[in-house]
Amino acid sequence: MTRTEASRHGAATLTIDLDAIAANWHDLRARHPSGPVAAVLKADAYGLGAAAVAPRLVAEGCRHVFVAHLSEALALRPLLPDDVMIAELNGVTGGSEGEFIRARIVPVLNDLGQLARWRDAARAAGGRLPALLHIDTGMSRLGLSPAEVTQLANDRALLDGIDLRYVMTHFVSSEVADDPLNAGQVARFAAARAMLPEVPASLANSSGIFLGALGASDLARPGAALYGLNPTPGAPNPLRCTVALDAPVLQVREIGAGESVGYNATWRAARPSLIATVAAGYADGYLRALSGRGVAYARGRPVPMAGRVSMDLLTFDVTDHPDLAPGRTLRLLGPELPPDAVAELAGTNGYEVLTSLGARYGRAYGPVRPLA
Ligand SMILES: *Cc1c(COP(=O)(O)O)cnc(C)c1O
Repeated sequence: MTRTEASRHGAATLTIDLDAIAANWHDLRARHPSGPVAAVLKADAYGLGAAAVAPRLVAEGCRHVFVAHLSEALALRPLLPDDVMIAELNGVTGGSEGEFIRARIVPVLNDLGQLARWRDAARAAGGRLPALLHIDTGMSRLGLSPAEVTQLANDRALLDGIDLRYVMTHFVSSEVADDPLNAGQVARFAAARAMLPEVPASLANSSGIFLGALGASDLARPGAALYGLNPTPGAPNPLRCTVALDAPVLQVREIGAGESVGYNATWRAARPSLIATVAAGYADGYLRALSGRGVAYARGRPVPMAGRVSMDLLTFDVTDHPDLAPGRTLRLLGPELPPDAVAELAGTNGYEVLTSLGARYGRAYGPVRPLA
């Protein structure tokens, strides 16, 4: 595939299943009949490699991608055909207008200041420049405030020279299907749109697609679900797992009852034990919050972490796996142990588990399956 640098000697291997990501995109398309489905590729496609994921999804028919930073957009531009819209969520900051224009990156305009900057750039360029307009309906983060929407409605000249492709907003808690905030945001979005020129709307993130009619729009913007995170927490995950992380066992050591493992001796053997040390740690994005809580899989069976997460090493109690030896691997992520499950153990979400995936892993693009 696009990038294969598997088996970096002695490092864990991160396997990324582009077929599964493509299948997830098609699954989401089928669930969003009101309009096309984009791909959110910010933070290097949630850690999985935008340079590999983007061309694959475009080959599947995806025509809109979103990133957060201009640098991410610029990196994707040469990899994608001209007719694929690359939208940048953080918007146009002072001095970056020329780079957006030259690389045909479409900014999301998040306030009237960004709008004015883009309008001035269009005037200077003597043409019309494409953009998306972000309306804040509850996040209080980016997007035009209600007062700014009113101001824009009263002064449409602010949009001179701007070719508005979409008006968009972002759900606050779409993964909680019965949260009244969802309907409230949709109502506020409709009210704002009624005050502005009529252009297509972009609404749902991953979980928003699962809200049915409430999340329907002219362009959905899923990220997490593409990568296999569960958009419907509490219900079974309808999507495919897209990653596996297999870390090499460096050593298996016998310790006696009462001996401790790791920093600050937080784990003590209750019986004569076998401890496997594997090559991954918090410097690889294996969250230190997993200390004493993490789990790995050895041949389809869970083994508990023993002690704390170190910078470069993890230790697991493999007493019940006497056949485990250096050269073998322990599975740290995969269909048996999806990112959402690891996130729950660490007290975070699957997004953070994926976007933390480290730079030292060897990366391979290929099928991801449970290990027998
Ligand atoms: C990150 C992001 C998305 C994608 O959200 P997921 O929950 O990962 O699907 C969509 N829209 C905006 C504005 C975002 O910042």
